[in-house]
Amino acid sequence: MRIAMIGTGYVGLVSGACFADFGHQVTCVDKDAGKIAALLRGEIPIFEPGLDDLVASNVKAKRLDFTTDLTGPVAEADAVFIAVGTPSRRGDGHADLTYVHSAAREIAAALSGFTVVVTKSTVPVGTGDEVERLIRETNPSADVAVASNPEFLREGAAIRDFKFPDRIVVGTSDERARKVMGDIYRPLSLNQAPLMFTARRTAELIKYAANAFLATKITFINEIADLSEKVGANVQEVARGIGLDNRIGSKFLHAGPGFGGSCFPKDTRALVKIALDHDVQLRIVEAVLGVNDNRKRAMARKVANAVGGNLRGKTVAVLGLTFKPDTDDMREAPSIPLVTGLLDMGAKVRAHDPVGMEQARKELPDIEYCEDPYECVRGADALVIVTEWVQFRALDLDRIKSAMAQPVVVDLRNIYRADDMAAHGFVYESIGRGVEP
Ligand code: NAD
Repeated sequence: MRIAMIGTGYVGLVSGACFADFGHQVTCVDKDAGKIAALLRGEIPIFEPGLDDLVASNVKAKRLDFTTDLTGPVAEADAVFIAVGTPSRRGDGHADLTYVHSAAREIAAALSGFTVVVTKSTVPVGTGDEVERLIRETNPSADVAVASNPEFLREGAAIRDFKFPDRIVVGTSDERARKVMGDIYRPLSLNQAPLMFTARRTAELIKYAANAFLATKITFINEIADLSEKVGANVQEVARGIGLDNRIGSKFLHAGPGFGGSCFPKDTRALVKIALDHDVQLRIVEAVLGVNDNRKRAMARKVANAVGGNLRGKTVAVLGLTFKPDTDDMREAPSIPLVTGLLDMGAKVRAHDPVGMEQARKELPDIEYCEDPYECVRGADALVIVTEWVQFRALDLDRIKSAMAQPVVVDLRNIYRADDMAAHGFVYESIGRGVEP
């Protein structure tokens, strides 16, 4: 199959490289000339484990190439995937569809022969109808079917998720589109990936419902963590105790500083707006958003309390800035409200992240960036672990303690044990690990 991937970001580049690896002929297109030039030089513009080798081997096999001009690749394609960004619209939280709509118009003008246009971007219910309308308006003679194929990969494990998905959802009622999509994903049947065909609007809603449900699960355990602290229970054991129930499942039950990232906050916000537009109030999802926003802000107060209530003139070392490990993505990372809160309270902040510092500088220009964890904690009155990078799981605790001005550690990911930390002489705070009286 010939595939054109419009938008070469986290989703477009990973999906394009994986499709090429299945044996398809893929061209990844992006408007960002710098990104395409880097890819043509063999450089990967994002950090995603394994992506450099996957791209290199498929470029070498001549199954994957890159361009800023969609005309040729779209004309030749059996399927054109739209994988452009759908950020939160400023002001109201709706999904901003500007990029999707302009991609649809550009694609329409270049179509030739029967083509399936597939929205892979996360888009509100009904966007497929609008993409189809825009294409027909721009190019009335186009022979096209518009399908929805939401993407469920996670940054940091994106290639594995793409190649071994729990399911593939395809929304279309067009028989020819069904055949093309079946052919594109056939290689995954070897990995037992269920291919679920559904109507287009249902597919669009599945993506938002999935993200809202996962965000709810995280927020639920975060509230149980708060209660655990008050009643002297351990949230990690509570999570294990409930997660072993198959009806609940153990994933997404790790208490922490609140969810962030490029998807959960914007997609839960958008789902609430989509529902309101249809006179439906999703009160659970609204509550999740409110609870999560408050929680992210509360983390700075947690740090202040750990050092006695006042951060003015204090130095705080922050380890981990990206919204999760194994990515350089800083979009809506919990570190941003945390660090901003610390600065507002008068603290000086030093930070280290294994790969996210370049992106972080754009969001957090007023802090000091350090090359390694030990330099970061030098002279600090508190150390806050914000992202659970594997590099932070086995720090030399004696070295950390002797470098700090005060041995205070606030572990927002529960990666250390309270008894170990006490044995090393730290004042140690974590999330939801109350002590039984
Ligand atoms: P991204 O910002 O990393 O990439 C989007 C790319 O599209 C950018 O490089 C941009 O330059 C390009 N672009 C915009 N308009 C274009 C046009 N008209 N022609 C060509 N290129 C254009 O975004 P992302 O994280 O890859 O997300 C893309 C979509 O996938 C979003 O809807 C997102 O919600 C969804 N999604 C993301 C993830 C994730 O983990 N990042 C997971 C699942 C779904």
